Amino acid sequence: MLPAGLERRLIGGASRLLLHLFPDECRLCGTPLRELSRVPVCRDCLRLPAPLEAEYFCLRCRTPFLNRFPLDQEGVCALCRSGAQAFDAAYSFGAYDGALRELIHLFKYGRIRTLAKPLGDYLVSAFPLDQRFDVIVPMPLHWRRLWQRGFNQAALLARELSRRRGLPVVQAVKRRRFTAPQAGLTHAARRRNVSAAFVPRRQAAVQGKRVLLVDDVLTTGATASACSRALKRAGARYVAVLALARADRRLNAAPYRPPLESSGEA
Ligand SMILES: [Zn+2]
Ligand SMILES: [Zn+2]
Repeated sequence: MLPAGLERRLIGGASRLLLHLFPDECRLCGTPLRELSRVPVCRDCLRLPAPLEAEYFCLRCRTPFLNRFPLDQEGVCALCRSGAQAFDAAYSFGAYDGALRELIHLFKYGRIRTLAKPLGDYLVSAFPLDQRFDVIVPMPLHWRRLWQRGFNQAALLARELSRRRGLPVVQAVKRRRFTAPQAGLTHAARRRNVSAAFVPRRQAAVQGKRVLLVDDVLTTGATASACSRALKRAGARYVAVLALARADRRLNAAPYRPPLESSGEA
């Protein structure tokens, strides 16, 4: 038997801990959460993100377009045609907008790691079932950013996908340079900024393999392309990118401006 005072203090401490672990309001819509969950977002809000739909999209990178004019006769966009994209295909779940964008921000900048599970569900649903992969490679973070954030969001997503699809995760590339934020840079400058940032490691793990590169957000594809190039240098036979969200230029008629804290490019 514990003294009553100590018992009360222990119970008080436990409930404070519970409240800390299970916040009582949805971080998206503010409604009180009815069930105990380690994910501080209500079920309704978790149901909001919808798969990206497009009538016109590039057959290779799956960038959506308003009309068919940016696509050639094979249905491929100018960027893919120019050879600027080093990956063989790119898939994503939804547009980087609305609830999905808010959830990704909570996950990354709000550092709510438990969101990896519901976000992983969206990623699993975007997994191309008609393709075969040998390994999953998460987009690496530079150690400095990893240290700031405490985790690599792409690695957490890759782990969820790995669990569900039974594929091994290999940290096959590392980020060599601390690249300047991509925000505000032109397309060409973005590509220059990241081109030398990735170096292969654990070459044997990807040599001759079909690789699925996982990231949270695909913006211009410059980062994914630079990373894919490093994987190809390491001998990967095929590299496809799978991202949770992608910038959808159709959403705003004005020229697309990436969000300030660097979106998925970091
Ligand atoms: Zn909500
Ligand atoms: Zn394309």
